[in-house]
Parts: sequence; structure tokens; C-alpha cells
Amino acid sequence: MRIAYMQRTSLIDYPGKISAIVFTQGCNFRCPYCHNPELVDPELFTEPMKTGEILDFFEKRKGKLDACVITGGEPCLQKDLILFIKDIKDAGFLVKLDTNGSMPDVVEACLDRGLVDYIAMDIKAPLDKYSQVAGVKVDTDAIEKSIRLIKEACPSYEFRTTIVKELLTPNDIMKIGETIRGARLYILQKFVPSKTLDKAYLGMETYSDTELDDLKSRLSRLVEACMVR
Ligand code: SF4
Repeated sequence: MRIAYMQRTSLIDYPGKISAIVFTQGCNFRCPYCHNPELVDPELFTEPMKTGEILDFFEKRKGKLDACVITGGEPCLQKDLILFIKDIKDAGFLVKLDTNGSMPDVVEACLDRGLVDYIAMDIKAPLDKYSQVAGVKVDTDAIEKSIRLIKEACPSYEFRTTIVKELLTPNDIMKIGETIRGARLYILQKFVPSKTLDKAYLGMETYSDTELDDLKSRLSRLVEACMVR
């Protein structure tokens, strides 16, 4: 595992649970608005933490933490992800995996083995704009497969989209709703231009609260629940 750093406590990253967050290095997407460039651009990588150090941390936090959130970057790129999750599960923690959904085989392996309790999958764009928004050529069949697997087999999940006004029209966002139709939860994430992979995006914005609320109510007809955050 290439884990760049760890956040030792979070009350918001795993719904209703106290978690610690591990941030993996490396991503196969290049979303220009990405707020973790240090986990995406290899030139910004720092020396990774030792996996044993992280497992020791969780051993010592038994009874104090509920869950481990694995995020990135794209965690599914990590060759020993399954083994790492298994160690965390064996220590008695819930596991939440954040993923861009580009590697459905890894998602499937996690689900088949009962290794993840919650998945948050980013949906970058409607399928016909996926590569444009993700900044690389994306196999949208893989994205659709991940969506299907998560809907069918994940104990708890959310799909979420970072809303950058310049990248996604209201119609694009409704098309995403169609792609995930029937999903348990869809979250519209306001883009906050604090730090971005492409610095040109520091000047870009999200929709107004009124516009997002309007989208939320329209999307609520396609999914079980829709939230703005
Ligand atoms: S926002 Fe895009 S580039 Fe950044 S970590 Fe997520 S998938 Fe990778």
C-alpha cells in the first residue's frame, strides 16, 4: 500500500461513525478540480507511511474508533488493497471505500468477500462526457459495471458528484441521475475552489444554493434520496 498520510479521527467521513481516514497515493484520473493534487501528481508524492504503522494504530484504537475510510487518490489501484482491508476487518473495524469506480473487478472482489461496509463512488459526469471531465480516456462500461455492482451488493453506499458549473450543465446532472436511477443515495457536492489539480479551476464555481436545491428536488424523483453537501 502506498499511503501518503492518515487522518486519525473524523466524525463526518463515515455516516454516523467515528472513523480514521487513510489517503492512498496515485490516481488513474486527472479531474482538473481535484482537491488532492498531492495524491494524484507523482511529482508531489511524499514518502509513504509504513502499512504496519497504520495497522498498529488501528489495533490500539479498538473500542475508540468504529471505522476505517480508505480514500485517495484511487485506492483500487493499490495492489495489496484486499489484504489491507482484510487486516482492518479482522481487527474489528467497519470499512468504507471511496472510489472513482474505474476498476469494477476490485470493487467486485471487495463485495464478494464481504470486505466493505460502505462504498462512496464518484460519478464524474454523464457517460458521454466522462473522459472530458475525468481528464483521461475512461472506459464507461467499467463505470456502469461498478454502479451496478454497488447497487446490487453493497450493504450501504452513496454516489456523489462534485458540481463544477463550467463542467456540468443541469441537463448533464439529470443524465447522471438517469444513469444511477433507483440508487439509495445521491449527493451533489458543492465544488469549493481551495486547492485544485489544475490551477485554472481555482477561479471556477459551483451552482447557487437555489439552483442546487432545484436539481435536488428533480433528482429525488430518480433516486431514493438526494442531498446537497
Ligand atoms: S478527484 Fe479525480 S483525480 Fe482527484 S483523486 Fe478523485 S478521481 Fe483522482
